Amino acid sequence: MKKITPYDNAKKVIGNVAGKIGLESWITEILLHPQREISVSFPVKMDDGSVRVFQGFRVQHNDARGPYKGGIRYHWNVDLDEVRALATWMSIKCATVDLPLGGGKGGIICNPRGHDGIAAMSEGELERMTRAFTRAIAPNIGPDKDIPAPDVYTNSQIMGWIVDEYAKFVGKPSEEVLGVVTGKSLNNGGSVGRDEATARGGQFVLREAVEKGYTALKTLKGDRVVVQGFGNAGSIFARLVHEQDGCKVIGISDSKGGIYNPNGLDPRKILEYKQSSPDKTVAYYPDAEKVTNQELLELECDVLAPAALENVITDKNADKITAKVVVELANGPTTPEADSVLYEKGIVMLPDVLANAGGVTVSCYEWQQNLAKEQWSAEKVDGMLEETMRTNTSKVLETAKKYDVDNRFGAYVLAINRIAGKLKK
Ligand code: NAD
Repeated sequence: MKKITPYDNAKKVIGNVAGKIGLESWITEILLHPQREISVSFPVKMDDGSVRVFQGFRVQHNDARGPYKGGIRYHWNVDLDEVRALATWMSIKCATVDLPLGGGKGGIICNPRGHDGIAAMSEGELERMTRAFTRAIAPNIGPDKDIPAPDVYTNSQIMGWIVDEYAKFVGKPSEEVLGVVTGKSLNNGGSVGRDEATARGGQFVLREAVEKGYTALKTLKGDRVVVQGFGNAGSIFARLVHEQDGCKVIGISDSKGGIYNPNGLDPRKILEYKQSSPDKTVAYYPDAEKVTNQELLELECDVLAPAALENVITDKNADKITAKVVVELANGPTTPEADSVLYEKGIVMLPDVLANAGGVTVSCYEWQQNLAKEQWSAEKVDGMLEETMRTNTSKVLETAKKYDVDNRFGAYVLAINRIAGKLKK
């Protein structure tokens, strides 16, 4: 039997939405086929003097709403099918929050951190590989064509190398082409507010859903919150809802395990503990009970925020989730089977394409600042983020209600209708 791939799943969802809203078949066909798939092989000189040929991809799914946008990941498991699926989700995510951008994604098959006995790559090797990949895809990217960003194992340093190499390709100074990527460092054309954007976006989505009466929660004050994953998205989200909304954060975890205290945990203190602990983990925090990551998800709480990995809420544990609201800060933490269980239980899902879209939203602002040669203040960025997240949360929740579907399906309906609107023009 043929293995079901992530891209098969992506296509299935698009097919289901198309059927539900009676989408014209030519539009469905366009959405089921990425517009361009670039596969490149390029040689890189390694530190030991040998030459290795790497393989990389860039999939450009749809640009009806604006230039393609999406990260580049460096991973030994990247393949074209996965990149196709991720590019498709980027088209949906950008349209869900109404950004003037389409969807793309890229990757290089490589071992940046070492794996299975293979040594990690040196900084020099990473730089030469990044520059060679940039030269290979340079004709197809650009501030008005396709704007890559960091993803798994890529960062602001790597984005800086892409800008520099792309500038050489087009024969312009780097300052003129900063908009070719986002996720740059602040002193090299990055935007203020990007680090906090995903968590802050999730906070605005949650506030809007609660304040507009779409959940069983009357207010966020005193609500019990559990957060799985204490990295960029999870740790900042925990701190924001604790300090600004008066939530009681009762459970936190990372890859080494979780902690629980029904009287509440102080996320700022937990972060300090994690950063100073030898294992860089929250798991041994003294003033709390230890729980496994599985137990953590099933803790009695009001808001559950999965902020680590995909496929953690499945048909095996969905019936044990007690939260009234799930805020998906991670990408794909809930399986389709679990989605149905949660929906039947009346648990309000704030899906990834909406709840973690604050990140790509501020990336869009970074690109707009680069094009306009401006640097916006934190107040301006946060104000625009709030407006975007709140407006589109209401639209997603209204759409779901109108079509009598769950909020994830509602988000896809909204996004696909928006893309279709542009395709018809
Ligand atoms: P991160 O690397 O900063 O943090 C990940 C956290 O998850 C770490 O605390 C890690 O210990 C924990 N973790 C790893 N394996 C785990 C496990 N098995 N059980 C429990 N915890 C585990 O990553 P991040 O940037 O915070 O991203 C987290 C998720 O959010 C990912 O799914 C990512 O795709 C998604 N996301 C992030 C952004 C962003 O801007 N950072 C934007 C959109 C989506």
